[in-house]
Amino acid sequence: MIPFLDLKAPHVELGEEINDAIARVVNSGWYILGPEVDAFETEFASYCEASYCVSVANGLDALHLALRAMDVGSGDEVIVPSNTYIATWLAVSQCGAMPVPVEPVKATYNLDPDRIEAAITPRTKVILPVHLYGQPADLDPILALARKYGLRVLEDGAQAHGARYKGQRIGSHGDAVAWSFYPGKNLGALGDGGAVTTNDPKVADRIRVLRNYGSRVKYVNEVQGYNSRLDPIQAAVLRVKLKRLDEWNARRAAIARQYLDGLAMTDLLLPEVPAWAQPAWHLFVVRHAQRDALQAKLTEVGVGSLIHYPIPPHKQAAYSQAGFAHNAFPLASLMASEVLSLPMGPQQSEEQTRAVIEACLA
Ligand SMILES: *Cc1c(COP(=O)(O)O)cnc(C)c1O
Repeated sequence: MIPFLDLKAPHVELGEEINDAIARVVNSGWYILGPEVDAFETEFASYCEASYCVSVANGLDALHLALRAMDVGSGDEVIVPSNTYIATWLAVSQCGAMPVPVEPVKATYNLDPDRIEAAITPRTKVILPVHLYGQPADLDPILALARKYGLRVLEDGAQAHGARYKGQRIGSHGDAVAWSFYPGKNLGALGDGGAVTTNDPKVADRIRVLRNYGSRVKYVNEVQGYNSRLDPIQAAVLRVKLKRLDEWNARRAAIARQYLDGLAMTDLLLPEVPAWAQPAWHLFVVRHAQRDALQAKLTEVGVGSLIHYPIPPHKQAAYSQAGFAHNAFPLASLMASEVLSLPMGPQQSEEQTRAVIEACLA
């Protein structure tokens, strides 16, 4: 049996380090925001090569509050990928704005810069690329378009902790990057967590106020804010795991290389990595016209796999009111019917990866 992802394995490897971090918070008597959260924010900002990090309760809130900090509201449009996790779209909708989907590059699954300009209208406020599966989106042409039209760029980095674009860590290319620390992410908590990194002091300041009831000074409320704070216990856990992130991402990259070599001669479409990209390998996604048969074959021999994602957002009941035609985004639909994510995680052994390859070859 090879699990898609063993969530317990990182904590077995870390052992007492995790327990000590949790005990430190329990014994501190400080359970909302405070020193542990501040320390994580400083360390994560530095890791992401960004000036500021503001932590929040989860990745969806990170996206939502970052858009609010950019003044996105009713009547505005935000350009999003047609083939992302629905959270990217929901954050836009939560602001009362409209997600405007743009199709991906077929080889990399990321937002196609050549299709963005046609989607820009006088209402467009933000371009929201997602670094899907841990592979950085092609940011330079997106940033050039944003400059040309006076738009802001918010990146969804929920799958890309540690990835690099043209040598620089994802974290401050655009105006802000939203992060999730959902347990299965490359940097995952023992529950929910999220953050925004940015070089813009105004964006950082506004999120800091919005996440804490619109308040800077206790019981003084500047705006109608939210309660969206990272738990200090999660911050303490994340500080321990952040120290291992590069080592764990390197192990993911080794697994990816083993897959790329071992599956090269098959008819599976394998991930393509542009020369300027250093992916975080959150997922290893292959594509095949008979995807369901392939998944059934793997399941039969005890190899776990998942589909990211089986239904594109425009076909979800959640967006039935938006009036998107069923066939409006053929690439997103094609991917939903053909992608399959193979087992991938920092504690996955070479033998396990070999067994997955053999199951695919059988
Ligand atoms: C996980 C994820 C999110 C949402 O994060 P949560 O912490 O679960 O709210 C947003 N966007 C993408 C691309 C994700 O993978």
